[in-house]
Amino acid sequence: MSEQLPVNVNLEDAVKLVSCPACNAPRGEQCKTRGGRLAPVHIPRYEAAKAAKADQYRLERWNRECH
Ligand SMILES: [Zn+2]
Repeated sequence: MSEQLPVNVNLEDAVKLVSCPACNAPRGEQCKTRGGRLAPVHIPRYEAAKAAKADQYRLERWNRECH
């Protein structure tokens, strides 16, 4: 089952939250194309960032509810 969570990830978040599975750009660094130019964030990274943010959200909610 997948729960719809109110997570919104922009390109900056994607760069900050996760490294890129497509081009191996580390966290905090923009994606690069094969030619070494800066690229917009790769889709898998964007998806990973959404997942990371959803986890963060669940954890925060859990902390609020289960003190
Ligand atoms: Zn990338």
